[in-house]
Amino acid sequence: MLNSYIRFAVCHSTPSSHGGHYLLLRGFMKELEERIAQQGTVKPGNVLKVDAFLNHQCDVELFDHMGAAWAEHFKGKNIDKILTIEASGIGIACVAARYFGNVPVVFAKKAQSINLDGDQYTTTVYSFTKQKEFPVIVSKRYLNEGDHVLLIDDFLANGKALQGLIELCHKAGATVEGIGIAVEKGFQGGGDHLREAGYDVDSLAIVESMDPENGSIVFRS
Ligand code: 5GP
Repeated sequence: MLNSYIRFAVCHSTPSSHGGHYLLLRGFMKELEERIAQQGTVKPGNVLKVDAFLNHQCDVELFDHMGAAWAEHFKGKNIDKILTIEASGIGIACVAARYFGNVPVVFAKKAQSINLDGDQYTTTVYSFTKQKEFPVIVSKRYLNEGDHVLLIDDFLANGKALQGLIELCHKAGATVEGIGIAVEKGFQGGGDHLREAGYDVDSLAIVESMDPENGSIVFRS
């Protein structure tokens, strides 16, 4: 009871009246913050579990609102491809693509497979949640010189997954036009490093701090 009170209070410190529609306030998406506050669980080890709506069970209407928010933010940019990473980024990226003229969505694979034939761009990244290194692979057929790419992912923590995707784009000679993230954990610094490096990072919710002891989640304002 106490936990939900703290989280509710934090989330509603700014009044919101989305009434079923997404609301962008100071660049953040209040609807997403509210869902995180209501259904997110803070796990030990700085892990935020949001699998009720984002990365296990998927709320497609919420994804649609996220796509609309990124389309608004990246309006005017010449984006002709979306690149994400399996698995959780795929659904979000596909829905978002509807707002970017149905551009192709390419997802980087995290393991070699017999389905991956031909030349590939590859790199290695360290996984925050799995705590081990894994390969990031894209076929050279689907990432090309001259592509204008929007990177999309569900979470941004230390920024390793995105650094891997950026490296693949550089190897291909593609331009990274922007980065759309659902949930950034601001306290882990990956997002701010990317911004300092000059990337246009649009995170729809930025968690400033969270506490596994009392379940509180504080958003950047
Ligand atoms: P990074 O590479 O930025 O450290 O971590 C980003 C990747 O790790 C994302 O692709 C996401 O799948 C996963 N991740 C990082 N932090 C969390 C978290 O708190 N919750 C969940 N569900 N995934 C996370």
